Amino acid sequence: MSPLKKIDMHAHFFPRISQEEAARLDPAQAPWLTISSDGENGQIMKGDRPFRPVYRALWDSSMRLEEMDRHGLDMQIISATPIMFGYSCPADRAAPWAERMNDLALEHCAGNPKRLKALAQVPLQDLELACREASRAKACGHVGVQIGNHLGQHDLDDERLVQFLIHCAENNIAVLVHPWDMMTDGRMKKWMLPWLVAMPAETQLGILSLILSGAFERIPKSLKLCFAHGGGSFAFLLGRVDNAWQCRDIVREDCPNIPSSYLDRFYVDSAVFDSHALRLLVATMNSEHVMLGSDYPFPLGEQHIGQLVDQNQWLNAIDRDNINGLNAQEFFGLGDD
Ligand SMILES: [Zn+2]
Repeated sequence: MSPLKKIDMHAHFFPRISQEEAARLDPAQAPWLTISSDGENGQIMKGDRPFRPVYRALWDSSMRLEEMDRHGLDMQIISATPIMFGYSCPADRAAPWAERMNDLALEHCAGNPKRLKALAQVPLQDLELACREASRAKACGHVGVQIGNHLGQHDLDDERLVQFLIHCAENNIAVLVHPWDMMTDGRMKKWMLPWLVAMPAETQLGILSLILSGAFERIPKSLKLCFAHGGGSFAFLLGRVDNAWQCRDIVREDCPNIPSSYLDRFYVDSAVFDSHALRLLVATMNSEHVMLGSDYPFPLGEQHIGQLVDQNQWLNAIDRDNINGLNAQEFFGLGDD
């Protein structure tokens, strides 16, 4: 058997998109990249407004590979920075945009195709186009897709989104669900509160919408489904949800089984940044359903990738091997190449 690979399955890229190219999707909203004169730093722009300061590893695979060496990573699975999704744009523009971004993701991986793999984005606002792009991307070498946790006012239990998940299950396409476009009514303007409060809630909302709607009863068990950031608030609040299911019929009305009985239907990553939180997560989900994920290369990602798992005193060697690579190899069908 080949030695265990250490795989970071939650990492982002952002290609060198010009303002002109972004404008073809949406001049005011589509993201593009401006890079400093020394090439080391950049700014993701949204229209004429700065969105997020970034650095070279986000778009330059040679720097990414150097940093992976420093972190002891054998492989990283990259996915779009969620601002690239384009879900609110007309589907006939979002579809070629998704195709272009996916081709650029594979170009990024070409820096070392054995160590860099990619998840595709899809024009989720159109079920047929989304399924088509997911299948095209898989045929081109993507190891799965990444989708946002909602589509405007529609959560994952929306019929179109459930149909998309069924398509992925039937075509053996792994799915990472990433929170995005966080709920906020104006009270979370400061201190990155949308990322700190709303983002974990968005992920929990995505998981609960699939459980409580009964969608998991219709989605094939073969679906490989993972939620980012340790599933957000989900694991910590699962007891509250189970109690509500037992005590209130309106919680039970669409969900025939107790919520905690669906834990074997999905995975989460390990990006929780606290050893007690990781202990709870593994105790809740089982180490067979947790995968190393860093959210690299952003400041809200794990700064020393894998340290939380490697130094966690409550994990045994089997747990660590599962989280560090065995689960991801099986989840993404990576084989031994
Ligand atoms: Zn992320």
